Amino acid sequence: MVVVMSPEATEEDIERVVSRVEDVGGEAFVSRGKVRTIIGLVGDIESFHHLNLRTFAGVADVHRISDPFKLVSRQHHPARSTVWIGPKGNQVPIGPDSFTFIAGPCAVESAEQTVEAARMAQSAGATILRGGAYKPRTSPYAFQGLGKRGLEILASVREATGMPIVTEVVDARDVPAVAEHADLLQIGTRNMANFGLLQAVGEAGKPVLLKRGMSATIEEWLMAAEYVAQRGNLDIVLCERGIRTFEPATRNTLDISAVPVAQATTHLPVIVDPSHAAGRKDLVVPLSRAAIAVGADGVIVDVHPQPETALCDGPQALLGTELRDLAKAVRQLPPALGRVDSSSLARKG
Ligand code: PEP
Ligand code: MN
Repeated sequence: MVVVMSPEATEEDIERVVSRVEDVGGEAFVSRGKVRTIIGLVGDIESFHHLNLRTFAGVADVHRISDPFKLVSRQHHPARSTVWIGPKGNQVPIGPDSFTFIAGPCAVESAEQTVEAARMAQSAGATILRGGAYKPRTSPYAFQGLGKRGLEILASVREATGMPIVTEVVDARDVPAVAEHADLLQIGTRNMANFGLLQAVGEAGKPVLLKRGMSATIEEWLMAAEYVAQRGNLDIVLCERGIRTFEPATRNTLDISAVPVAQATTHLPVIVDPSHAAGRKDLVVPLSRAAIAVGADGVIVDVHPQPETALCDGPQALLGTELRDLAKAVRQLPPALGRVDSSSLARKG
């Protein structure tokens, strides 16, 4: 870490920084320039953070020299990455040149419901189908998903529609079965810091969609991605899905600034889930517009042919007018920002 003092900083200001750094067990190396003084800190970076050196008199700036993660860091890989989803011959990109629209039911409930939701998603312009076969529910009495049967339904709907599939894996023991059927393995918010599961999906040979933990900092989220990358899998897509705050109007608070912050720090693509962020269908379209405007690489949205009978998350599922409005936003806004529809870059050959 480097502390840059302002040109007006006094000797006492410099001394105060040095002595506080030494108090927490660090070393401070002072180099005096003609105009400014720079202090290099060596030691435990976390304890330096707690000092809040930016607030000290005479301090102009504080720089962290290296990220705590390596493989996913943009410091070592400045160009932003594109992750390709789907089997060879039918691959959809998620990355900086395109905008990828992912949609589908929260949970796979039946073959009919899934195929209907997939058709709705596809006609709205979605290029990847979402649907949970294993559901991580807060209550153990709530619908837990169809499990293996759900995976089979997803595979048959992929066959019928040609849409690659993203589905969640909640248990490391299910990783081989999910990897056999899905094109993109989702790690949900509740499992972002389940390090054994992260390592297991890192070895599964399929791209990973890593949702941000609802109480995780951006740095913790990127450290979780590093667990996957460390196992040899750099095909990781990050998903901001809202964090817990004191605000009860929405299910979670969509942290829109997390998108550019993460994109500046990591080369991995970053998408947004406005459905699980808001928990309300009336906010999905405005939040999707915000996601596009802030530079997200895609959105993942819940749709359901009969939200009122949905076994999971019905209040946030789109149908009808909202879905048409979303389709319009996804068609019109990304091109204004220099992005093309992911289907026009798809690798069909
Ligand atoms: C989901 O996408 O189905 C889901 C459960 O999301 P999250 O992990 O963000 O709550
Ligand atoms: Mn859900």
